[in-house]
Amino acid sequence: MGCASSAALPREPPQVAPPSPPYIPTDQNPQSAQSAGPQPSAREGGALKTAPLVRSLVSLRRDTCSVVQEDSGQWFLKFEFGSLATGTATASFLATVEEAEHPASLPTPSASSTASLRFAAERRQSGRLFLSADLPESLRSFDTQGGHHVVLDLQADSEDPSAVTRQRSFLRLSPEGGEVHVEKQLVQCGNIIRPLDALYGTLPNPRSSKAAEKADEGGDCVICLSNPREVAILHCRHVCLCTSCAKVTSSTWSFQCPVCRGRVAAMVGLRDDSIQPQPPHAL
Ligand SMILES: [Zn+2]
Ligand SMILES: [Zn+2]
Repeated sequence: MGCASSAALPREPPQVAPPSPPYIPTDQNPQSAQSAGPQPSAREGGALKTAPLVRSLVSLRRDTCSVVQEDSGQWFLKFEFGSLATGTATASFLATVEEAEHPASLPTPSASSTASLRFAAERRQSGRLFLSADLPESLRSFDTQGGHHVVLDLQADSEDPSAVTRQRSFLRLSPEGGEVHVEKQLVQCGNIIRPLDALYGTLPNPRSSKAAEKADEGGDCVICLSNPREVAILHCRHVCLCTSCAKVTSSTWSFQCPVCRGRVAAMVGLRDDSIQPQPPHAL
């Protein structure tokens, strides 16, 4: 009697074993067994992701340099720059710089005249330095082979080995004064010196103009397409990232330039305002 009713009981649903991930004991894992061998790709990737964002304490505004003759008849170099520390600006007029193989610091130029000024920690400030009593005459008699019209140094009062504390700009002047061309720039970070010339993608070189200002504004970060480009990638020198995107170290551009896919050895913040905290609307 009882047996008949038991046949009507619903059957238990068949047990299905839950999917289990394949398990490889660590001592049999072929990858860990190879750990003593060379793993170049993994090692390289790890090292490149730590490419540092180098703070720049001083920065010349390349498009603001000009040479003016004042009422006294004397010639002066005028320029704008930013600095996050107090420091000294020095203009060496008609200068030669000794080339060292691996200099630990930028060598002092020898020049026909040298002028200096002290500056404050200000993001936007202007400088004025004496060059010559008779600029056209001085330029005529100067052989630019192996020499430079002006070597402009911005030196921050800082020993910070992880920041750019000194920026050296080599300037070429037009014969009648006025125009200034930034031929090349060097930056010193600790005892490392790197060129900062021929940056691609931003920073107008000719004297300021509406077009230059526009180009400056239009250069947006290639990742977020909204913030200005303000970080240079070394060694390809592409300026294509904003500071926030450059700080995202888990992304591909922390080891590969988004423009040329070149290896990223380091990133350098270029503008004096590149290290400011983000404005509130970006939070
Ligand atoms: Zn960005
Ligand atoms: Zn690049």
